[in-house]
Amino acid sequence: RQGNGHAGAAPFLRVAGIDKHFGSFQALSNVTLDVEAGEFVCFLGPSGCGKSTLLRIIAGLERQNAGTIHSLDQDISDLPPAQRQFGILFQSYALFPNLNVRENIVYGLRNRQLPASEIDSRLHELLELIDLKGSEKKYPAQLSGGQQQRVALARAIAPSPRLLLLDEPLSALDAKVRVHLRQQIRDLQRRLGLTTIMVTHDQEEALSMADRVVAMRDGEVEQIGTPTAIYHTPRSLFVAGFVGKMNIFPGHVKAGRLTVGSLAFPVPAPYDTPENQGDVLACLRPEQVRLCAPDATASGEILPAQVTHLEFLGSFWRASLIVPALGNAEMSADLSSRDMADLPVAVGDHVGVCLPRERFAVFPLAQSGQIR
Ligand code: ATP
Repeated sequence: RQGNGHAGAAPFLRVAGIDKHFGSFQALSNVTLDVEAGEFVCFLGPSGCGKSTLLRIIAGLERQNAGTIHSLDQDISDLPPAQRQFGILFQSYALFPNLNVRENIVYGLRNRQLPASEIDSRLHELLELIDLKGSEKKYPAQLSGGQQQRVALARAIAPSPRLLLLDEPLSALDAKVRVHLRQQIRDLQRRLGLTTIMVTHDQEEALSMADRVVAMRDGEVEQIGTPTAIYHTPRSLFVAGFVGKMNIFPGHVKAGRLTVGSLAFPVPAPYDTPENQGDVLACLRPEQVRLCAPDATASGEILPAQVTHLEFLGSFWRASLIVPALGNAEMSADLSSRDMADLPVAVGDHVGVCLPRERFAVFPLAQSGQIR
């Protein structure tokens, strides 16, 4: 859905051709993307790739050097932040320490000149939404980090913003609270139908929360897609390596056939493109690698391998393997506890590995510099 959402109808937000530089440093280059009404979009990328700068430009807190921002049919490129009516939540809770929960939340409504009864009913609605009923008299210091961030979220959505902008809202919280709050934010966003953009460097957070992910690198958009598209069919080696783990093998493409070590097969879709010619990198996720008994290797489809390491990672095991038929390449295979029950493996074991050919992602060798 990159580009025009529905033919004819303007998207809720259209960011077009945004450039931003700080002195001679180019922080954003020709960034273009659409956000549809009600969508939850995540900007994902490593530190310094320009995610926050892009969010700040959308908020109106930073001015772009080139490009435009439209909301529906209105050009908002030059509107001051307050007139955009967007709600913003940053990583630090940024609550007023001397105001209690109630005062912090209604602070967002201060310019609305609402009758007291309406403010009260809005407050109670919000307290319910963030699951903090009965805490309105508490001060920030009396709340946990997760609770403080929920109050900050309520303050951001109190004025019913047209768009909610979240800049790493969960990164200051510990892992358990973070996962819980992810779900709460997503539920609340869905319930309110609130169009939301969230910045994160955490791929798991982006994949688990977003309707669509905007993967960024060095100030440019690398790929826009659903979490499953980003994960299963990355469009660049950078996205492949940033989102999840990848086994990467040198390969060669000639006349539409991919050769990886002793294996040769047609380049799988959607990687059968003109760029994938000659030397390439063939990538396969560790959970796609299947292990089997060593006596299954006769067919040539299943390659002999040896287990060199075994790591227990809680919900799965990660085996490291050496595969002679792939030029002694080292690779990882992720094994569920069910896999381990079916075929228990130990360090030093000889096994067979089965690499599903249709699951390979293929990129030109020239992209190898993208992996850090
Ligand atoms: P992080 O998660 O670390 O904040 P990010 O992807 O959000 O990363 P930005 O904060 O957007 O990155 O910054 C992008 C680049 O622009 C960085 O290299 C940063 O140092 C630079 N930058 C951002 N703001 C300014 C500024 N006001 N002056 C100079 N350089 C800046």
